[in-house]
Amino acid sequence: ARKFNFSAGPAALPEAVLAQAQEELLDWHGNGLSIMEMSHRSDEFVSVASQAEQDLRDLLSIPDNYKVLFLQGGATSQFSFLPLNLLGDRNSADYINTGVWSKKAIAEAQRYCQVNIAATTESERFFCAPEQAQLQLDPNAAYVHYTSNETIGGVEFDYIPQTGDVPLVVDMSSNILSSALDVSKFGVIYAGAQKNIGPAGLTVVIIRDDLLGKAQAMTPTMMNYAVHAKADSMNNTPPTFGWYLAGLVFQWLKQQGGVEAMAQTNARKASKLYAAIDSSDFYANPVALRNRSRMNVPFTLADAALDSVFLEESKAAGLLNLEGHRSVGGMRASIYNAVPEAAVDALVQFMAEFERRHG
Ligand code: PLP
Repeated sequence: ARKFNFSAGPAALPEAVLAQAQEELLDWHGNGLSIMEMSHRSDEFVSVASQAEQDLRDLLSIPDNYKVLFLQGGATSQFSFLPLNLLGDRNSADYINTGVWSKKAIAEAQRYCQVNIAATTESERFFCAPEQAQLQLDPNAAYVHYTSNETIGGVEFDYIPQTGDVPLVVDMSSNILSSALDVSKFGVIYAGAQKNIGPAGLTVVIIRDDLLGKAQAMTPTMMNYAVHAKADSMNNTPPTFGWYLAGLVFQWLKQQGGVEAMAQTNARKASKLYAAIDSSDFYANPVALRNRSRMNVPFTLADAALDSVFLEESKAAGLLNLEGHRSVGGMRASIYNAVPEAAVDALVQFMAEFERRHG
């Protein structure tokens, strides 16, 4: 039987999607072969790929002047795609530092250009995001980068930064598709698939088309957004299975009522879990209320010596992957779109019982 999976990524996928993929695995739509065994240029695969793109466009109301790319390399490779493609004739970019993932993006960008830290919450131990008024933006920067949800710290922006004419770039790996989004506010949105989109190995990039075609001369062909845009993400063999499965997830999201409906469920799931943490002295979460992530909920036990017992007993209760990131310890429950509300209910109940026995 499937258990409740709170993994931060690769993360839970909707059971209905996995069941459909299983049903289609050996013989996709009566073609006598698997989708994985088909040419990416076949009519069949091209129709799967373009339907997936259309469904994503529908879900996020992506305007026509944006290209959607289905790439490989993970969100981490985007950390170098960005300066290589977006600097143009500028030599600096603004970065907002809110934790582990912003820092990694910053470190990579520093190999290519001057990085201005427009704001950092490091002195607040990354327990919050900066407010708009705290951003020190350079009007000559090539772009402004931020991480809308810090997967490890559990810190989520509660607003979209305003950056004037400077394109806004966002790492949305861990909260894309969790609520409605005004794509027109962004120059580039990128996300590794393995949290809210599909299996690992696929990276989705949504890019405004006026930002294409400015890559540095040294940019590797496979890291040039314009090359991928022109080739409909088929300059080489794309990650076909991941693309197909993402398409199934997009259809599932539409069946659930789209991102607006997901946002309501996600808000309910998160508030149940934070309420359980806040109502007890046994559990704690340090993040500022306005920036508490709806996707990744880190929490500590009053006595860290009980961590391993908590993990053992929760696993035995069918609640998997609650261990915090190795860099911070404690616990973390990732409650992405595909994690059902029943999983959160079961976790909340387990936490209360655990406190009763060990508190
Ligand atoms: N950015 C964020 C916010 C993440 O959570 C992750 C997580 O895995 C990454 C980037 C790195 O993604 P990838 O492993 O796809 O390179």
